[in-house]
This record gives sequence, structure tokens and C-alpha cells, in this order.
Amino acid sequence: MYDVIILGSGPAGLTAAIYTTRASLKTLVIAGGKWGGQLMLTTEVDNFPGFPEGIQGPDLMANMRKQAERFGAEFVDENFKEADFSKQPFIVAAADKTYEGKSVIIATGADTKWLDVPGERDKIGRGVSSCAPCDAPFFRNKKVIVAGGGDSAMEEALVLSRFAEQVILVHRRDQFRASQIMQDKVKANSKIHVLVNTQITEILGEQKVEKVRMTTTTSDKTLLAKTPEEITKNFHEVLNAHAIGTKEDSIMWEMPIDGVFVAIGHIPNSSVFKEIDVDEKGFIKVQEHTKTNKEGVFVAGDVHDHEYMQAITAAGFGCSAALETERWLEEQK
Ligand code: NAP
Repeated sequence: MYDVIILGSGPAGLTAAIYTTRASLKTLVIAGGKWGGQLMLTTEVDNFPGFPEGIQGPDLMANMRKQAERFGAEFVDENFKEADFSKQPFIVAAADKTYEGKSVIIATGADTKWLDVPGERDKIGRGVSSCAPCDAPFFRNKKVIVAGGGDSAMEEALVLSRFAEQVILVHRRDQFRASQIMQDKVKANSKIHVLVNTQITEILGEQKVEKVRMTTTTSDKTLLAKTPEEITKNFHEVLNAHAIGTKEDSIMWEMPIDGVFVAIGHIPNSSVFKEIDVDEKGFIKVQEHTKTNKEGVFVAGDVHDHEYMQAITAAGFGCSAALETERWLEEQK
């Protein structure tokens, strides 16, 4: 019987584990088959306090895990399957085993949101990616697209610009969610070309990504009245994109491309928790501090935080969840 079972091993889960074990709570971390969370997919992390020269994401996570293990946290490197919060002790299943815990901290993070267009899923790893720091070196001197208009998309485009010959940032509106400083960096980068009011509608290719189809919304009636050949003349040189037709308010394009990086947000890993209240986007609702609607079940990190989604804030939430858990367990005595 564990005092606390922590689901997830990103900055939130591991920080929680450091705090619960230091409070002498018997702690189990269901770390996942691929432990460490999203930072395992990044390279240099420059904004985690305490590392003036920056630190590699996987190194940061390895340090956090070592620190939790030093205080006695136990780890199961298996994927979490389900949990029963209907009675005490709570039952948590991972792989073919179940574990009993008096309390649970959910720190399962969030996963990539995909465009959900034809040709996307079957080409993941064959030109479609969601992680520029992981895959950018494969696109040296190539032409790639980044889809999205938030900070993630800007960051992906900037990383890719260090390798690729041309980066085309495709955003569905003409306003960006990204911070001004990131937008400015993108604008100042001569390798990055921004296409606004444009949606990717299909990714084509036999074995790997070869071209994309896109639709650009426009109210420019003069442009829409032109033939695809005439429209192409305006854009062909820069992007090698060909207009293939027009509709009432949009132009359809086809463009040869080597890679498509999708950076349009994340989906919280919460759907497995049937007894836990979530908002319309699936983020776990926090009642007060880090408490969920279920007594003894706490939450930390990207699975509830859609606002900041930073390693340091996830770690901070992990700390809060551990302290709340400790208080709650004390009250139960
Ligand atoms: P985000 O801010 O939610 O932006 C997602 C972008 O993707 C939006 O521009 C959105 O378009 C677009 N999008 C969503 N669904 C789409 C679809 N189906 N088709 C086409 N486009 C779609 O997500 P994020 O960029 O991942 O950032 C999440 C949080 O992490 C933010 O708070 C961000 O500041 C933070 N972050 C910070 C940094 C940094 O500071 N260095 C780096 C990465 C992330 P609309 O605008 O039209 O909705």
C-alpha cells in the first residue's frame, strides 16, 4: 500500500515525487513506457532556473528522476492503464499489475494535437513530425512546413531554420497567438516564409511526404477572378506553389514539400479518468489549489494547465500537489 501514487513522470510528476518522498510518504511513480514527458523530446532548455548555461531536456529529466529515487521513490516504467477512485484504497493499473494507494496525483501531461487531414497520420515519422528539436537534422537543406500560429509553431520554425533551406509557417488566421518576441524572431529570419489565412487540407506522397494541398481564404475578388496559372505566377517563384483552382472565397494550392511539422497545441491525457471532472477541452478541472472533484485525487502539470505549459510551472504545480496531498493524508489520520 502506497501513501501516494503519482501518474506521470514529467516535471510535474517528478517534482511531486521529490516532495512526497522527502515528507516520508511511501511513493510510487507510474512513469510510462517512455518516461520523462515532453522534455525528453527537446534539446536545449534555457529557461529552467538554476542552469545559467542551459541544460539538455533529457538530462534535466534524468536529474529529476535521480533526485526522486535518492529519497526513495519507486518507479514502474510501464504505461498507466486505468484507475478506480470509487473507494479507498484507490486501485491503479499499469501493464498487467495493480497497485493500491491512499492518494493519487495525476500528472499525465498532454499529447500532440494533429491536423487530422488525409495523409497525415500514416506519414508520422516519414516526413510528418511534431518535434523539430528531434527531427530537424533530417531536413537539412530541405523545404518544410510548420503548421500553427502559437509559440510552439514559432519555436519549431526557428529550430528548423537552422537546418532546412526554407521553412514555411502556415497559419489558419492572420492573427497569431504567439508572443510578440517570438513573432519578431520569425519575421527577422530570412529562411522563414509566413503564409496566413491558409489551412493544410491534405498531405500527399507515396512512401514519404512529397507535397501538400492547402486552401487560402481571401476576399480579393480580383485575385479570385484570375486563372490558377495567373495566380501561380504571383507566388510560384518564392514557394514553388501552384494554384490548382479557386472557390468563392479561397484558392487551392499544391506545393512540393519534404516535411510537415504540426505545432497546433496539445490534448490533455485525461480521457481515461472517467470519475474526474474535465473542461470542454479535456483539461482536468481544479476545484481548489490542486484538488480534483474526487477526495484524495490531486492534479499537476499540463493535464490541467492550458495557460502556461512550461516545465517550471509544471514542476511548481507538482510541488503544490505534493504539499496538498501531504496535508490531506495528515487530515485522514
Ligand atoms: P496555442 O497557443 O494554443 O496555439 C495553437 C495554434 O494552433 C493556434 O494559432 C491555433 O490557431 C492553431 N490551431 C489549433 N488547431 C488547429 C487546427 N486544427 N488547424 C490549424 N491550426 C490550428 O498552442 P502552443 O503554441 O502549443 O502553445 C501552448 C502554450 O505553451 C502557450 O501558452 C504558449 O505560450 C506556451 N509555449 C511557450 C513557449 C515559449 O515561451 N518559448 C514555447 C512553446 C509553447 P488559432 O490561433 O486560429 O486558434
